[in-house]
Amino acid sequence: MTSRRAFLTASAALGVATAVGTPAGAAGLGDRGPGVPVRPQRPGAELRALLRQVDERRIEATVRRLAAFGTRHTLSAQDDPARGIGAARDWLFAQFQQVAAASGGRLSVELQSYVQAPADRIPVPTTITNVVATLRGSTDPGRVYVVSGHYDSRRSDVMDFTGDAPGADDDASGVAVALELARVLSTRQPAATIVFAAVAGEEQGLYGSRYLAQQFKAAGTDVQAMFTDDIVGSSRADDGTRDPFTIRLFAEGVPTAETPAEASLRRSIGGENDSPPRQLARFVKSVAENDATGMTVRVVYRRDRYLRGGDHIGFLEQGYPAVRFTEPNEDFAHQHQDVRVEDGVQYGDLPEFCDFPFIARVARVNGAALWSLATAPGTPKGVKIRTAALTNDSELLWTATPGATSYEVLWRETTAPDWTHAIDVGPALTAKIDLSKDNVFFGVRAVGAGGRRSPAAFPAPVS
Ligand SMILES: [Zn+2]
Repeated sequence: MTSRRAFLTASAALGVATAVGTPAGAAGLGDRGPGVPVRPQRPGAELRALLRQVDERRIEATVRRLAAFGTRHTLSAQDDPARGIGAARDWLFAQFQQVAAASGGRLSVELQSYVQAPADRIPVPTTITNVVATLRGSTDPGRVYVVSGHYDSRRSDVMDFTGDAPGADDDASGVAVALELARVLSTRQPAATIVFAAVAGEEQGLYGSRYLAQQFKAAGTDVQAMFTDDIVGSSRADDGTRDPFTIRLFAEGVPTAETPAEASLRRSIGGENDSPPRQLARFVKSVAENDATGMTVRVVYRRDRYLRGGDHIGFLEQGYPAVRFTEPNEDFAHQHQDVRVEDGVQYGDLPEFCDFPFIARVARVNGAALWSLATAPGTPKGVKIRTAALTNDSELLWTATPGATSYEVLWRETTAPDWTHAIDVGPALTAKIDLSKDNVFFGVRAVGAGGRRSPAAFPAPVS
């Protein structure tokens, strides 16, 4: 289903709700309310050009090279030049350095290491190293967007660090996305900073990404979005079902890092469907589901799949908006499995089960999202809704966003899954809307040069 059709469906549902007599204090519900219908943001010429540069052959070469290190288990050898996670780390560092050398000084690469003390799935002190490449923003470098994959791999026994663990889909595919996007985006100059990371320790317990998120937090970094691409290598389920033009995007509602005071407020006025990750997911769908990516973004309103977790969680723990991309169907014979043939079935996470054009399309979805974020104004901050008195209109206020030329107030029925209406309020930092805050949800987004929109921010009440 395209966004356009999704929008029409939502509008139709609103129409039905009105028809059966929803008590509508405000004059307009559905299409009759203030503002114009929210439309997807179409890709511009520059974005289309960069998405065309995403090269599936480079992605394939990265996945095959990473699988060829035998194992990339976090506890495997760190000083063997041919086999183990150390060899993979050094190869990735060299790849990102090559990209940096062609970037005109815009991209810098570092190895970010720490020693993890013995812990769950870490029996001895272990150096965990992230490969981190930073494309510094031109005008708003303090605003940061992160895309990552994990380069460690595992076998059926998560503690077996000697046998082969090719980890092609999980997660050489996600690392290949981050590396290819670094190459394509670093020849250009976004306003905000983009970080491309290959992290380690995911299979042992999300260690590398947690460390990365903690370092950002300790430095006071304004991370406005984080994407983990994990298991984005194939669209084929174990029953043979294929869906090569869909990517799932997992986005939590109730925040992982919610405080008791925030929970109390949410119970009072709602908002469990309006967390920053949900706003981010809606934004990704609006900018990345189009003919330039060839993909449908299937947003899933949960943090992750059953029994699973991923590198976005470390960022959510720090209060950063983070979401997870994962293939639409999974084949569990090709994840977390020793390479073997059993009853004529090939098990193991081998490159031959990857679909490289699919991974390239996933990279385009990430690229469209990152580029649209980093060339638009940031998400508005300090967004409030006045609640000093009982009224039947709604007054919103916010602080100025660097690079914004105007703002839009978004609204929707409380039962609608995505924003339906946008009201242009110009450059003002406050707006009074003739709709009751009791009956609809509001958001505010910034609009910059060329009409580029930010993700929406959900208001907090202020008296
Ligand atoms: Zn994984």
